[in-house]
Amino acid sequence: MNDISLNGHCSCGEAKFNVNGAPLFRAFCNCTICQAYNQASFADITLFRSRDVVMPQEGSVVFKAHRFPPILHRGTCVSCGKATIEYLQAFPMPRIIIVPSNNIDDKALLPEPSIHIFYDKSVADIQDDLPKYRGYPASQLAFGRKVMAALFRGTQAT
Ligand SMILES: [Zn+2]
Ligand SMILES: [Zn+2]
Repeated sequence: MNDISLNGHCSCGEAKFNVNGAPLFRAFCNCTICQAYNQASFADITLFRSRDVVMPQEGSVVFKAHRFPPILHRGTCVSCGKATIEYLQAFPMPRIIIVPSNNIDDKALLPEPSIHIFYDKSVADIQDDLPKYRGYPASQLAFGRKVMAALFRGTQAT
């Protein structure tokens, strides 16, 4: 179960990280902060347990919290300025690492995305069968439930 090994990096390759452990889940976030941070119309993100992730070398990534309270810290590479890796710290929950899925070398090892959140901010009409949550409370709740379910389920990729 725990033997998935993944390598990842920012778009220029200066900021590298790796993961030894199964993803918690994968999702699409359509919020405007994610759009700007990922320079894309929506974010394709995969979540991991912090203990499974070897973070990029200190100084290669700058972390910034874009809203208050500072729970989610988005990291950009100091060389290319692109979205690299994020962490979610909401005590008393364990720290969660969020990775733009495109930064993972072998995306075929990732689970399929399971939800859209902040779909009210979507800039495109996305044709898929995934549940689409709109607005802050519904999106936060759906996301939180996914995190909790994945943490309590143990590490499985599906
Ligand atoms: Zn870079
Ligand atoms: Zn977002």
